[in-house]
Formats: sequence, structure tokens, C-alpha cells
Amino acid sequence: MKIRLSLCLGLLMAAIFSGRAGDAVGKPISPWKPGTLDIHQISTGRGNAGLYILPDGTTLLVDAGEMPVKTANHTPDRPDATRPAGERIVRYIRHALAHDPHPALDYVILTHFHDDHMGAPSDKSLTAGCGAYKLTGVTQVGESLRIGKLLDRAWPDYSYPKPLDEPHMMNYRAFVKWQTENNGLKVERFVPGRADQVVLLHNARKYPNFHFRNVGANAEVWTGEGTSTHNLVPASSTAPASLWPHENCCSISFRLTYGKFDYFNGGDIPGVIPKGYPSWFDIETAVAKAVGAVDAAILNHHGYLDSQNEFFVRTLQPRVWTISVWDKYHPTPEVWERLQSTTLYGGPRDIFATDVHPANREAIKGLETLASDSGHIILRVAPGGRSFRVVIVSDSSESYQVKKIFGPYRSK
Ligand SMILES: [Zn+2]
Repeated sequence: MKIRLSLCLGLLMAAIFSGRAGDAVGKPISPWKPGTLDIHQISTGRGNAGLYILPDGTTLLVDAGEMPVKTANHTPDRPDATRPAGERIVRYIRHALAHDPHPALDYVILTHFHDDHMGAPSDKSLTAGCGAYKLTGVTQVGESLRIGKLLDRAWPDYSYPKPLDEPHMMNYRAFVKWQTENNGLKVERFVPGRADQVVLLHNARKYPNFHFRNVGANAEVWTGEGTSTHNLVPASSTAPASLWPHENCCSISFRLTYGKFDYFNGGDIPGVIPKGYPSWFDIETAVAKAVGAVDAAILNHHGYLDSQNEFFVRTLQPRVWTISVWDKYHPTPEVWERLQSTTLYGGPRDIFATDVHPANREAIKGLETLASDSGHIILRVAPGGRSFRVVIVSDSSESYQVKKIFGPYRSK
């Protein structure tokens, strides 16, 4: 009896440490539990979308991509093309928030204004119930789920570095206008350096070791000290408009901390300067200096050729990388090589991608060493943040079935 009791205790301790109780390969993913931090990289094949369920149940959606046009270079829709990506994201969120009788998004952040992060109307897009805008990506999400606060890089005038008036922006701005005037939506510009724009809303006192730090936006980057920032484009700059920071340079970046666990998301910031371009086309270096080492990070710009420079990889040195894939160049061979480099940083690392394009499997030797090359990627950080694991969930249907479980990884 005594032996059996200690065995039970041992198993219980193992389950608590790994945070693994409840998840099993072949079963649907277990529900979020209070105290746990879940980061879901949702696989739609049409762009980026990440759902964060914070330790007290506060919810955050980072991006809701829906590219209007697909080519052979793009990955197929997941699970199929019978529904638009915005609707797939909503359905995923409803499942992940099934513990909540009134599922809603406390925060939505758009890292930047590209269709693969926010949506863009196509001929097929339906019109919102109010008639004021088309439903695609984030506007589809807002039509279906209540959003508390929306953070983007350019509210309220949408004029940096030049007027943002392309059709997909005018659609988004119509959505913002209608939702703020009629539906109680709050909108704020994301301010680099601040640590109070995303906070725990339900039980912050219980989780004092959770912090959300705004790192960068619009080529302005946190220094790592207090809330101070520096602008990578000098005020004295007389650069012509063609050399102003482009949309990816303007991406929002942030660091999330839960106890010892640190996570970084940098949208599509670049770090490799094209020949003849000014220094502010490298956002990654300044960001890396402010952020330091983390446990997990999503690749900047989907692992495209201008991203993950050597300093960035060496400085963040995460144990786990995730890649949001929708193209055959995600990642490119040079980026893949830097991620593998034990010269840049030592020790093991596991790399997880949503559905890799078949042509990229041919192009990059070694891509088969990806820990996972398809499916939704869920980081589950144990209460207190001391360890985390990665759960891969099938995206070939909406069964939410667990395919693989990795970890636990000990937070640094
Ligand atoms: Zn992108």
C-alpha cells in the first residue's frame, strides 16, 4: 500500500512537472487550465494567426491573416478551401475557449498591415451585417467575437510613414470606425517601451510574474531600460520616400514573460539590409539588444531571406523556434542554416513549422530534421512558467487531435 502510494505520488509529481496531464497523442487537445499560458500558432495556410490564453484566462489574438490570392508557391488552405481563413480562425478560437460560456478576445494585436496578417477583401468576401466593410481576416474575427481592445501601429490617423489608404486598409479602417462607434471597441496605437497596454484582466494579482513588454513598432525600439526607446530613423534623416521604413520594418514586436519563461514575437521585422539600403532596414539587431535570451520565439518574417540575422539568432538563442508558413520560401536556406548553427549558439533546439511547402522540402537539405512540419503548434507553459512543452495538433480536419507532444523544456 505504501509503495503504491509513493508510486502514485511520483506519477502525480511527474504529471505536474511536465504539465502533461490531460494531453495524449490521438486524443483531442485538452482544455486550457487556469495558471497555464497557452500560445497557439494556428495553421490556416493563408497567413499568420496566434491565439494566446494568458495565465488568468485573458485572451489575446496576434494577427488574423487571410491572403486573397493564392498561387502554386503558396501552401494549401487548412484544412481545406471550403471556408475563408478568418472563419477558420474564429472556429479555432471558439474550440480553444470552450471553457468560457462567452468566448471573447480581450486583446487583438495586428503586427502590421499586410494581408497575410490582417486579411484583404476578395471577390468572394462577404459584407458585414452592418454593411460598412467586407469580412476578411481580422474583420471576420471582429464580426464573430467581441474584441475588447485592438492595438495596431498607426491608429488613429493611419499616416506613417505615408497615408495608409490601400483598399485593404480602407476596409480595415471602416471596420475600426464602425466597431468603435457602434460596438464599444477600444483602439490604441501600440507604443514601444510600454508595459501596460496588454495586462492580465481577470486575476492579475495571482500572477505577478507575468509581464507583457512592447518592444518595437514603426522602426522605434525599446532600449531595454524603463520605457525609453530610440528611433532607428534619425530625426535629421533626409532619405527619399523610397528608403523610408517599409511595412515590415514597421512591424510591432513584443516580449512576453511568465516567471523564467520568455517568448518573443517580431511580426515581419527584417534584419538583413539589402545592398544600398539604410541602416534602419535592420530592425532585428536593436530588438535583440533589448530582448536578450528567450525560451521560445516565432521566426520573424516567416523565415524569409531578410530575417534572423546572426546577431539576432545568437542573442535570442531560443530552445524552441516556431515558423508560420504560407509560401515555399518559408524558411529560406540561409535562414535555415543560421537556425542550425551551433557557432551562433550552443545546445539543442527544436524547430516547429506549420505546413511546409513540398517544394521547400526538396530545396532545403535537412528540413526533415524539423521537429514537426505540419499542424497547429501549441506552446503550453506550466503554471509559474518554469517549464513548457509543445503540442502539435492536426490541421487536416477540425478534430483538434494531438499528433505529437514535445518536452517538457525547462525555462532558462
Ligand atoms: Zn507576413
